[in-house]
Amino acid sequence: MKLVFATNNKHKLTEVQKILGSHFEILSLAEIGCNEDIPETAETLEGNALQKAHFVYGRYGYNCFADDTGLEVEALNMAPGVYSARYAGPQRDSNDNMQKLISVMDKINNRKARFKTVIALIIDGKEWLFEGIVDGEILKDPRGKQGFGYDPVFKPEGYDQSFAEMDLSLKNTISHRGRATAKLIDFLSKKEA
Ligand code: IMP
Repeated sequence: MKLVFATNNKHKLTEVQKILGSHFEILSLAEIGCNEDIPETAETLEGNALQKAHFVYGRYGYNCFADDTGLEVEALNMAPGVYSARYAGPQRDSNDNMQKLISVMDKINNRKARFKTVIALIIDGKEWLFEGIVDGEILKDPRGKQGFGYDPVFKPEGYDQSFAEMDLSLKNTISHRGRATAKLIDFLSKKEA
């Protein structure tokens, strides 16, 4: 089965292709000739994931999926959540977002946080949602050079490394996106059987 992953984020594409690539043919937006900025204006992760997937299905007619991810920090009432990409402003800059989080959390002792990913899948016009969560904590200083986004300041529960210190296979095994993608594979495998 051919599926488009409706993302302009190269890191997400690499992560998901590594997990799904041996099971299904994953096409990027570039491969279907989509160079547009896909709107994500909903107020929930589910809403944004569905909006992105419907945009591609509606305009290009490919079966597809999209993900939306939020970092939820307990001491900040689960912010920045759905606003994670724009936390430090409309420029959507990962480093600015991370630096803002570090300074907001400066005097806060409760460091608990989680990443949540929602994947929206559309096949022949029908939609499904898959969720993945990983619990962890916000580090005081960034660590590691791999990954993207908030990875250098997120340490998953049960591990000593930040996501940015892990190789991609390990991050994929335990991450929010890895878990949501595993549910997607399970669903697609049963559907194809
Ligand atoms: P979105 O799903 O692309 O809207 O991502 C929301 C925000 O979370 C962006 O700032 C991303 O850089 C960040 N983000 C998404 N996934 C991850 C991840 O796996 N690790 C770290 N940051 C992430």
